[in-house]
Amino acid sequence: MAGYIFRAEDIDTSKPHSARMYDYFLGGKTHYEVDALAAEKVLAVWPRAKVWARANRSFMHRSTHWLAAEAGIRQFLDIGTGVPTEPNLHQIAQRVAPDSRVVYADHDPIVLTYADALLRSAPAGRAAYLHADVLRPETIFDAPVLHDTIDLSQPVALSLNALLHFVPDEKGPYELVAHLVDQLAPGSYLALSHGAPDDDPVTTARVTELYRSSGITVVGRTQDQVTRFFDGLELVEPGVTMISAWKSEIDQPLTEVIDAEVSLFAGVARKV
Ligand code: SAH
Repeated sequence: MAGYIFRAEDIDTSKPHSARMYDYFLGGKTHYEVDALAAEKVLAVWPRAKVWARANRSFMHRSTHWLAAEAGIRQFLDIGTGVPTEPNLHQIAQRVAPDSRVVYADHDPIVLTYADALLRSAPAGRAAYLHADVLRPETIFDAPVLHDTIDLSQPVALSLNALLHFVPDEKGPYELVAHLVDQLAPGSYLALSHGAPDDDPVTTARVTELYRSSGITVVGRTQDQVTRFFDGLELVEPGVTMISAWKSEIDQPLTEVIDAEVSLFAGVARKV
């Protein structure tokens, strides 16, 4: 965070924000009344929002653990990090390999405000935070802190968890992901989770509308549409699945097992 001066007025509390609503769903404390009100409206039509958030977090735990323990990855770039919630990604990775290096990026000033919790790295590793917008990838790849922390000539696991459903088709999400993956060395991985339309189209329409009325675009994508993000990459078993089914056998002390079927797809793939 060196060099970034945070100003309190950067936080817009006049309208709800997805990161803070997500924190509310996870039972966190990093949100404002405006977010709680918007989140309660979502829960009224979609009571599964809380289990959805927890299932998503659990995938981050399992995929990060797998990337560190099975794929041998020691460098991580997590875009759309969200408000810190223990265990954070670097804690999962460093539990396996204390020398893991992690760069976090998010565009929400509130994530920046609380980023201290993301920087408490194991002494052997590194953790850094970047205030950046994934829609302007140069804000990530041109940032000195990225290059000070990870070496892009070596494999990196790029995680985009619960991020891309905030990127509508007209903003070119597939080209964006291809561009991000292009920056990475062979042997790197892409891990992502993505909201799907709810089984009930009426629920989907109501939730989408509620987010839209809060100024947030959400676009659920089908399994095929989510799989397209991995074009050109080698999907790791079991491929793109309903989120709770992805390597559900990975059980570690900090990981909550969520059996519920929730409307999220997830997958991990390797760049060859
Ligand atoms: N990855 C975390 C948090 C998901 S919530 C997890 O899976 O648990 C989605 C996050 O993406 C929010 O923190 C939001 O601020 C961030 N986000 C949304 N659009 C973004 C953008 N254009 N650039 C960077 N971050 C973005």
